[in-house]
Amino acid sequence: MTPFIGPEQLMREGGHPYILRLGANESTFGPSPRAIAAMAAELPRLCWYGDPECYDLREELAGRLGCKIDEVVVASGIDDLMGLAVRAFIGPGSIALSTRGTYPTFAYHVTGYGGALETVDYLADGTIDVDRLLERAHKLQPSILYVANPDNPSGTMRSRAQVERLLDETPRQTLLLLDEAYAEFAPPDSFMPTVIDARLMRVRTFSKAYGMAGARIGYAVTAVRNIETFGKIRLQYGVNRNAQIGALAALGDEEYTARVIDEVERGREEYYALARSLGRKTIPSYTNFVCIDYQTAQQANSVIVELMRRGVFIRKPFAPPLDGYIRVTVGTASERSEFAEHLRAVSRIEPVEI
Ligand code: PMP
Repeated sequence: MTPFIGPEQLMREGGHPYILRLGANESTFGPSPRAIAAMAAELPRLCWYGDPECYDLREELAGRLGCKIDEVVVASGIDDLMGLAVRAFIGPGSIALSTRGTYPTFAYHVTGYGGALETVDYLADGTIDVDRLLERAHKLQPSILYVANPDNPSGTMRSRAQVERLLDETPRQTLLLLDEAYAEFAPPDSFMPTVIDARLMRVRTFSKAYGMAGARIGYAVTAVRNIETFGKIRLQYGVNRNAQIGALAALGDEEYTARVIDEVERGREEYYALARSLGRKTIPSYTNFVCIDYQTAQQANSVIVELMRRGVFIRKPFAPPLDGYIRVTVGTASERSEFAEHLRAVSRIEPVEI
């Protein structure tokens, strides 16, 4: 089973020439104009392979993270990095542990490479159950413990102290794979500083706050030992040349990224208000999407189907206790108001003044 049906396939299946694309947590604000200019200027050199070492980008990232260049590896997105981690740490019969219903690509890789996935449920408020994960980890001694923080699809986040506890208390031979795809949308002081430890791999991406999902580029920070293992199994020319150039330019445009992050914060507040006006609860989000409660999986599913009929693409968490929610990405102001109109129509509830 593939983890997702892409929006293009949904358009083909439904015969939609246009969709309001708020289902994959892409940044509809786009990449920084500086990244676009840098990539456009280099297009004629697309005849060349990209630097297999991604040296310039790794050097910049290492400087920002306060680690050595050899402790950073670049790949074609977190999805690629998760595949490498699974290939490096999981063999037939190995166990991986994560949260039921969290971002699905990790589970997809585990199953594909012959591992067995064990899961723990979210707590009722949509947060990751750190106590239970640790308890299961001690029992199962998994090869990898995967945690997305902030998490997708819940949008919730665990505190720095909780993540530090996860790292301290995870069994010694388990890799803690910490997926920080949405880190830029959360307060910077809620993260651990850079820690170099062979038991920890942190992965981040240019797909979200930097608006470069289609370029496919992300990075991992971990001990040299793990990076050397990746060096033996990764595709040497797997990272697009233009993506490397664009990512480096995007890092340099801090003002643009800060504006996107501010706008996402405004958008989240708008979605909370929209949900309140429809008498619906939301889960406080630390990401560029918001979950809105429709109480049952059946009701949430019918909202998704009705929206898709109207050419609005969103998704929903698939596992309890969050399967009664829909999940919508924060788009631009005009996309948000278009979405609000459609949601009001399908919710069939008269909006109330707030
Ligand atoms: N991790 C999480 C938690 C995500 O939500 C996503 C994308 N939706 C990814 C990883 C994938 O990131 P990338 O585009 O870098 O492969």
